[in-house]
Amino acid sequence: MTPEEFREHGKAVVDWIADYLANPERFPVIPDVAPGDVRRSLPIAPPNTGENMGRVMADFESLILPGITHWNHPMFMGYFGITGSAPGVLAEALVAALNVNAMLWRTGPAATELEEVTLDWIRQMLGLPVHFKGTITDTASASTLYALTAARELAPELFVREAGMAGRSDLPRLTVYQSEEAHSSVAKAVTTLGLGLDSLRDVPTDNEFRMDAGALEKMIAADCAAGARPLAVVATVGTTSTTAIDPVQHIADIAARHGTWLHVDAAYGGAAAILPEMRSVLAGVDSAHSVVVNPHKWLFTPMDCSILFTSRPDLLRQAFNITPSILLETEHGDVTNLMDYGVSLGRRFRSLKLWFVLRHYGISGLQKLIREHLRLARLFGTWIDDSSDFELLAPINFSAVVFRYAPPGEDPATLESLNRGIAERIHSMRELYISHTFVRGAYALRLAIGNEHTTESHVRRAWEIIRSETPAKP
Ligand SMILES: *Cc1c(COP(=O)(O)O)cnc(C)c1O
Repeated sequence: MTPEEFREHGKAVVDWIADYLANPERFPVIPDVAPGDVRRSLPIAPPNTGENMGRVMADFESLILPGITHWNHPMFMGYFGITGSAPGVLAEALVAALNVNAMLWRTGPAATELEEVTLDWIRQMLGLPVHFKGTITDTASASTLYALTAARELAPELFVREAGMAGRSDLPRLTVYQSEEAHSSVAKAVTTLGLGLDSLRDVPTDNEFRMDAGALEKMIAADCAAGARPLAVVATVGTTSTTAIDPVQHIADIAARHGTWLHVDAAYGGAAAILPEMRSVLAGVDSAHSVVVNPHKWLFTPMDCSILFTSRPDLLRQAFNITPSILLETEHGDVTNLMDYGVSLGRRFRSLKLWFVLRHYGISGLQKLIREHLRLARLFGTWIDDSSDFELLAPINFSAVVFRYAPPGEDPATLESLNRGIAERIHSMRELYISHTFVRGAYALRLAIGNEHTTESHVRRAWEIIRSETPAKP
């Protein structure tokens, strides 16, 4: 592509993005496609000769866009609302142009050091202690996998890094504890590490879906009595289903008594701690060995960007530090080689978008957005509370609301089918994206606010849509 062509198409792309970010509502949040539609619209074989970029862009509009679920839409309130903000988009373009691979300090000095600096800024914003060192990963799932890998290094007497775990009769069962409400990424990490799902303990939760620390203590004691070696406890700040906040301080005391690693999954909820009035959600995290927070969730950073903070970067490095001879270090002095802190050798320059986002909004700008999302969620909660035929199924700890349509006198099976019906009708309208969950086995609707452009009028419209899709009264 010539520079002139790049300029021409680049301007068209920037114009397209500017229009999109200004008004994603010109698209329905949910696409009108059936499985296979997009695939069938595309050639089965790649082009033999290069094609004109104008045609590619036209096909982007006509073939790809109709199959897009618009996560960056103010009416996207499923799972966790997210924002690919304008400063983040600009940084992504520059990252692609530079195409830096920051595996070593030498291969990306600015990428390496900007990662250290921006993550330390975020550490300060969250009120984490100065000895927490951050590293960027693609997702919270990877962050948690890395944390549990490092947890094995806290038990050097097991020699897992060198001797592995297969074929050994000298190893006890290595157990990991999570609340029954924890994210599936913990189970994935446990299987990936070869610990086995049978070693993952689901600790019961209290009436607000928080881990029962007393039960944790008993389960650890029972496992120890049976000869197991407790390896790690995973506490969650903002569980995926009901946004519960586990009693981290209490859990930290128990983990410390048993010499286990404590990992805190604050992928979503951690961001709220940038508000002084929400700082307490991270109470106790000071004593954790690691904590994950996702800027791609609630810190207005485009996918993907997750941060793993750890108070034991030495053990994280010990777990992953395997240097191929072609990369043997020639640097002297205080340098970080990012490849030493995870599975990937190649490292994207993700900190640039974080830096753009932090500088564009400033702490106060980010606080204002998160504070507003919290307000909107509570406001929605008051409408549920004031309605005689809807009910909240969990406390509103952050910006997600878990609720259901519950006209008096209906049995559980009817309630489930009524709410499934509402969810399906809303989905087929394509104007609002909400998701669902199960709360103690009961089907629930879930509305989560996290997009920069979601305002009170969007939330009011969502409530109107939800109410209009309840079955007509006989
Ligand atoms: C979203 C979420 C995850 C998974 O995040 P990914 O970055 O998609 O892997 C894990 N834990 C919690 C609590 C979450 O909210």
